[in-house]
Amino acid sequence: MAIDFRLTARQRELQRQSREFARDVLSPALDAEALSSPEERFAATKPAYEAMISAGFLRKCIPLSAGGENAGLIDTAIMAEELYALNASVALTLIGTVLGLLPLLIGGTEEQRGRLLRPFLRLTGAPLAGFCATEPGGSANAASPPPGEGVRTTAVLQGDRWIIEGRKSWVSSATGWDRKGADILSVLCRTDPDAAAERAISVMVVERPASGLIFERAIDAVGHRAHLLPQFNLKGVSVSRENVLGSLGGGLALTAACFTGAAALVGIFAVALMRAAFEFALGFARTERRGGIQPIIEHQAVGYALADAKTAIEATRWLCWRACQAVDAQSPSAQELAIEAKIHGSETAVRVVTDLMRVVGIESYDHALPLGRLLQDALALPVFGGGNIGVRRRQLHAILKRPKYDPLAAVSEVEV
Ligand SMILES: Cc1cc2nc3c(=O)[nH]c(=O)nc-3n(C[C@H](O)[C@H](O)[C@H](O)COP(=O)(O)OP(=O)(O)OC[C@H]3O[C@@H](n4cnc5c(N)ncnc54)[C@H](O)[C@@H]3O)c2cc1C
Repeated sequence: MAIDFRLTARQRELQRQSREFARDVLSPALDAEALSSPEERFAATKPAYEAMISAGFLRKCIPLSAGGENAGLIDTAIMAEELYALNASVALTLIGTVLGLLPLLIGGTEEQRGRLLRPFLRLTGAPLAGFCATEPGGSANAASPPPGEGVRTTAVLQGDRWIIEGRKSWVSSATGWDRKGADILSVLCRTDPDAAAERAISVMVVERPASGLIFERAIDAVGHRAHLLPQFNLKGVSVSRENVLGSLGGGLALTAACFTGAAALVGIFAVALMRAAFEFALGFARTERRGGIQPIIEHQAVGYALADAKTAIEATRWLCWRACQAVDAQSPSAQELAIEAKIHGSETAVRVVTDLMRVVGIESYDHALPLGRLLQDALALPVFGGGNIGVRRRQLHAILKRPKYDPLAAVSEVEV
């Protein structure tokens, strides 16, 4: 009986704890989204983030093998769905930190993990990490050969220190709570000016406090209104040689490995937003008559729209869980499934939340109701974690072109 989508008792407990925490702590923290500047909004979420750390949610995302409590990506998905459904901004601050730690978790040595992970394993404080890939001017062509610029941020070895020069943007929480930087930043930079991109780009860890990290501005994003998305400069930032993660020059492959699991989680974010929109629209349809004789759910058009939305949510969740399971099992189909979960989930969420706004009607266009916020959050999903145009082109298209690609491989794996 290999195909069984039921939760274990432990996973059900994780779901219950996450749901309760989201209701009690993350939902009230949505008030931060009403403040006027992006930095004020982010700062106002700090108590909720600290509560999330002390409740152990970051430890629950760090693998058991690295000293945390995570048993796999499915567990992260179960937890992330609950947190994201009630507060995408703060949930993304947590998952953005996990993304910032992934190069260390996947490519780091035991010594690096022991030294750099410590603050993230504690149940105190508000530790942040960021994965710095995106640059002003675009990063869809990071692997471009000249005359394309590819990765523009450079690191030059001087003695036993790398000196980083460049600019990054849109990196979750990167400049931290005080503009001085997250606790650690995994920075994608060019370490060989002449080699092909596959051997020229590396990931290295900048530790706080880092002199030369200069905050430029906090992007006023369409959604995730209380999540920090800064643009910043790395001006002569000095990094120990010991902080290069994985092989020198192997940064693009390490980045791709990190983004496989992240892609499956973007699909789960989509499930979370659709689910929140559905729960609201269902309640509205059951109770509101809008001046008519019966609750609007009695109208066939409304009932069918709700049925289509629920079907899309269930189908997306199963695809995402299957992708997470494939990542955990290191299946050869993991990358394909994760990208499909990301593309399908993100684009379905934008459509479903919009459809549900039509069910609710004009009231949905008032920020007093949650649907406008959920749509604003959903709009990020097709364009972040690699825009869907780029993900289709660079990753899925490349997989389909492989001479030995087997379209049935993902449904032919046998339990071992
Ligand atoms: C909430 C949020 C959180 C984020 N967190 C992070 C983070 O933690 N770290 C991080 O590094 N980034 C982060 N980002 C940024 C984001 O993940 C990436 O920058 C983004 O996915 C890349 O966007 P893009 O593909 O549109 O790239 P761009 O380089 O901006 O490309 C723009 C567009 O040009 C077109 N295009 C470019 N090249 C080609 C081509 N060769 N073929 C066809 N079309 C092409 C495509 O239409 C593409 O969408 C975040 C963004 C958001 C909104």
